Amino acid sequence: MWMMSSYGASRSLLKVLCALFTLILIGLPIAGAEIPGYPDYRQIEDELAYLNDTYPEICALHRIGTTYEGRAIWALKISDNAWKDEGEPKVLIMGGHHAKELISTVVPLMFAEFLLDNYSSNGTVKNAIDSTDIWIVPLVNPDGYEYVMEGHTDWRKNRRPVDIDGDGIVDGTGVDINRNYAHRWGQQGISLDPNSEIYCGPHAFSENESRAIRDLALNRSFVFSISFHSYGQQIFHPWGNSLDSAPLDFDLMDSIGERMARYNGYDVMEGWKWYNTTGDSDDWLYANTSCLPFTVELGKEYIPPPHDISRIFEKNRDALLYLLSIASDPYVGVYGERTNLRISDFSVKDGIAGITVENQGNYSVSARLTLSSENWTYTFPRFVLAPASALNLSVEVSGAGKFLANIEPVHHTEEWNLSDNSAVFTIEEIPHEKAADPLMYVFGSVILLFFLLSYGYKSLKKH
Ligand SMILES: [Zn+2]
Repeated sequence: MWMMSSYGASRSLLKVLCALFTLILIGLPIAGAEIPGYPDYRQIEDELAYLNDTYPEICALHRIGTTYEGRAIWALKISDNAWKDEGEPKVLIMGGHHAKELISTVVPLMFAEFLLDNYSSNGTVKNAIDSTDIWIVPLVNPDGYEYVMEGHTDWRKNRRPVDIDGDGIVDGTGVDINRNYAHRWGQQGISLDPNSEIYCGPHAFSENESRAIRDLALNRSFVFSISFHSYGQQIFHPWGNSLDSAPLDFDLMDSIGERMARYNGYDVMEGWKWYNTTGDSDDWLYANTSCLPFTVELGKEYIPPPHDISRIFEKNRDALLYLLSIASDPYVGVYGERTNLRISDFSVKDGIAGITVENQGNYSVSARLTLSSENWTYTFPRFVLAPASALNLSVEVSGAGKFLANIEPVHHTEEWNLSDNSAVFTIEEIPHEKAADPLMYVFGSVILLFFLLSYGYKSLKKH
């Protein structure tokens, strides 16, 4: 009996010691902080500077913005040769959009520490750092976070005073940064009242914090992003709003979410099925970049007790390591085989070029098709090719000469072999009286030509 309780006690003690050790390692305050177990802004800044100094070969600290109150928004890039862009696949990990969600800042900070500390000893970590660029922005909203650390523990927004009618009188304080991105801004799950905690701001990207993330994403091409929030134990993927029709990459994103959930045990869904929002980071990233974005709602409360932090971190750490492991080609990572897209036909009649593209593979792929000649290039809007299907796209062309058609999956980062997926066609004569017009006219309709290949259509939307 004594042995058992002693064993239990020492196991608990060990856990507490491990937790304390982890906290000490990453420079978190054990005593004297406003909120025990959670670092304040200065300690976060010191920790990032410490990591940058300690591991100069594999990390690079970037200031990506400045808040209204003058604090830096920091991004730590972790990669081999971190100060060079080696063209490796890029993954963005964010926390702290919402001030009171303190765990959402601590988890990415601990992940940075974990990666850097284990580079030389852990093969999985070394491979992740050598083959990807990992951008970690642990605290998107430093002003709000500091306000929480000062004791206002239910604060969510940033701290910018807002004067909506320009009369010199402040109408409210703070904008919900995760309602301030531009995709369908101001339409759903928001408030236009600056005193509301879901106030979306006077206009899209009115805030320094959302602009910092926008500019980072537009200057890098992220394959994936994770935006940590708390709480709920869920993994959301686009759309966050219920206004757009189903995302082209539903199958791929849902499959990746389910695989991350094998590690953290969270529920996976399209975000709007939990609640509707517009203006969040995920919808903007998905609509405007080639990123596959995910929001992870950590734990069961905004500020979990200190003894829960390690456990929450560890299972999400493994989900992140999984995500990094498939960043070089999400399709190969999820489906185990490369995409199989082909241009199967090209014809010109009355000045209209018709291009037939095929997906001979077993899963849906979103793709882009570019048609170009010496003097112009036209890229069709993104489209999705179901498994074993074909699609006919058409566009009015002008002039004669050599035309190159190239199809590629939107979400790949591996070397794309042009010769496998391109076709060159020569148009001998000016095919149409409008040919002198250098502008092209896109024919509005896209004609779906689903046809059966030997193995038929398989829906992959079963989970
Ligand atoms: Zn949140």
